[in-house]
Amino acid sequence: MTNIIPVDCHIHSTLSPDGNDSPETMARRAFELGIKHFTLTDHIENEKLSSWGYAEAMEKSLEVYRRLKAEYEGRMNVYFGAELGQALYDLPQAEAILERYDYDFVLGSQHRTKSYARVDRLPDDDTVKYAYLDEYFEELLALAEWGRFCSLSHLTFPLRFISGDVGGGELDITRYCSVIDKILDTIIKKDIALEVNSSGIRKGLHVPMPGMEYVKRYRDRGGRMITVGSDAHRAEDVGADIPQCLEGLREIGFSEICVFSKKQPIFIKI
Ligand SMILES: [Zn+2]
Ligand SMILES: [Zn+2]
Repeated sequence: MTNIIPVDCHIHSTLSPDGNDSPETMARRAFELGIKHFTLTDHIENEKLSSWGYAEAMEKSLEVYRRLKAEYEGRMNVYFGAELGQALYDLPQAEAILERYDYDFVLGSQHRTKSYARVDRLPDDDTVKYAYLDEYFEELLALAEWGRFCSLSHLTFPLRFISGDVGGGELDITRYCSVIDKILDTIIKKDIALEVNSSGIRKGLHVPMPGMEYVKRYRDRGGRMITVGSDAHRAEDVGADIPQCLEGLREIGFSEICVFSKKQPIFIKI
């Protein structure tokens, strides 16, 4: 396994409510690691914009992007990104944000469901966990059908909280095969990439989100656009476990991944 980290397309800074280090610190860390393509993707939690200073953070994110792009010119490619959560909960607002900011890269995410605001606070009850997953995948499919984003983020996100070291549940995920296939077919048809999010590895799932069996399903169905990100919320996690994700991708036949500039994919050899 080579330890080269060519990209990190999922990074949070203090311009996210849960970020720990400044965008400048995150970029410096990426540069020190030899990363060639760096996309800051601070949170926009669409249904609760007024709960935190998102509006101000989005403005700052644009300023910071311009500054970092100039600072690293010729040394590291810097892209203007965002992680847009729950776009469908207020579609006019989500679309207005996308009109206002000319992002290079938008991650489409679903961090909750209509009935359950906190996936990290579900009761330890399999019935509830399955109810959450039923709703989650249905909402994720609707998000994919809307499709105004570049890469579908962490497809198996709830598993981090309901199985693995954190959630402990032993759930039968095979019951979601058909809806997952529909989601994959939808993003393939719409030229939306699939994200391989390495944070599952360090956050108790021990595999990326999604695991490679799902990435293989995406490939088998014709999908060829993969983005890779650490979902770092602090500098020490920038690039974390990305070499392992790339190794997994090569094993299932990928020789390229994507970064996005002006919402267009650029293919990078791995
Ligand atoms: Zn996320
Ligand atoms: Zn994230």
